[in-house]
Amino acid sequence: MANTTDADEDGPRVPIVCPACETTSRIPLADVADAIDRHNEQLHDGDDVAAVDPDIADRIADLAASDLGLLEDDGDSSH
Ligand SMILES: [Zn+2]
Repeated sequence: MANTTDADEDGPRVPIVCPACETTSRIPLADVADAIDRHNEQLHDGDDVAAVDPDIADRIADLAASDLGLLEDDGDSSH
């Protein structure tokens, strides 16, 4: 039952970068899409400016999948 991950109670946090504002925020995965929408709507007229950190974006799918238990734990448990 005690499945130890790095996630806190809100789940994994995802860095969002906005080049226009030169800001980075860490947002709980569940709120990321909402936060990006809100930021772009409020600050950039709905333009698609803020986005998930590109370095991380590739891993979001994996994060989400493993968070939901969709990935098989195939013996790569480096703990
Ligand atoms: Zn911005």
